[in-house]
Amino acid sequence: MSINKITTAAVQAGINTDQHHGAVVAPIYLSSTYSLKGFNDKREFDYSRTGNPTRATFAQAIATLEQGSVGIVTSTGMAAVHLICQLLSTEDLVVIPHDCYGGSFRLFTHLAKRDLFKLIVVDQNDEEALAKALAQKPKLVLLESPSNPLLRVVDIEQVTKACHTVGALVAVDNTFLSPALQQPLLLGADIVFHSTTKYINGHSDVVGGVVVTKEQALGEELAWWANCIGITGSAFDSFLALRGLKTLPVRIKQHQENAVQVAAFLKNHPAIDVVYYPGFTDHPGHDIAKKQQSGFGAMLSFEVTGGVNSVKKLFDNLTLFTLAQSLGGVESLISHPQTMTHAGMDEAARLEAGIRDSLVRISVGIEDIDDILADLAYGLEQSQNA
Ligand SMILES: *Cc1c(COP(=O)(O)O)cnc(C)c1O
Repeated sequence: MSINKITTAAVQAGINTDQHHGAVVAPIYLSSTYSLKGFNDKREFDYSRTGNPTRATFAQAIATLEQGSVGIVTSTGMAAVHLICQLLSTEDLVVIPHDCYGGSFRLFTHLAKRDLFKLIVVDQNDEEALAKALAQKPKLVLLESPSNPLLRVVDIEQVTKACHTVGALVAVDNTFLSPALQQPLLLGADIVFHSTTKYINGHSDVVGGVVVTKEQALGEELAWWANCIGITGSAFDSFLALRGLKTLPVRIKQHQENAVQVAAFLKNHPAIDVVYYPGFTDHPGHDIAKKQQSGFGAMLSFEVTGGVNSVKKLFDNLTLFTLAQSLGGVESLISHPQTMTHAGMDEAARLEAGIRDSLVRISVGIEDIDDILADLAYGLEQSQNA
């Protein structure tokens, strides 16, 4: 689907579907339970943990945007990851990237410690290490591209092919780009998942997640588990996230336009040692990103000259950027992965993944670009003062 078609699908999701009153926008159904028509005669919905009309509308919208068959809306992004873990048994092997989202890393390593499955952590850009891991015939391979916070890119199509030859399922975390910029199922993946907390809702007022499968049967198996373990998302969150989704493509356009300028500004700045942004032609993942994404996104990270002291001074002198976890909201956010998003990883694993104390991550918002650049310019200048 082109971004134009995605724009239409996102805006039209649930529009004019109300049979009862003709509400143009899909109504919110907060009822926890639904009456039976009569003895042993169920309607489509019976209990909101199992199924809810508002959640179903949102799930269908994301499944459409991701070109999948089944969408399952979960209470958080981590619940989406945990749901995928239900496919695993004790003898199964899972392969995860060494630089995945800190919460995913924590979940997989701690469940593996309890022997719920076997785990290998690899640098998925290291072809030899990846081939060695795949030779052990994993049941599931997790991909995250671009990765958080270093924006490393993996070739989803190529890695998926290699995984499929050994019979592994491939699940891709698409949170950093959203379906507006990348559609992993079209690149061959079996499962795509999101923290909808980020770009999909886009307004930093919902925590949620979604899993979409390519195949109907796998989707039904996961939907069964979602009800069984009780991690489905609420009607109210689904309503808000569906509202956010409608403007996803237009927000993404503005996010990206700003990010290109921020990246260029940071690249030439004397207070910065290195900028990680896949849009740069010298970024190691640039060509792959160009091939599999329809844009470079609006997340970037950089290392400040002078280490953590300079980082602290930078944060102290910003006014437009808010120092906060999370990303993908309309407002610009700045964070320090070592002490924030990736604090759940131990020091050795963090350094192995390349996350140093001088690293700063930003989620470029949709404010006026002149204001964004002026804020960064002032903060960076102050960061170098004694
Ligand atoms: C935030 C995030 C998650 C976890 O989602 P929550 O909604 O916070 O539970 C997973 N993956 C990535 C890439 C994220 O940024």
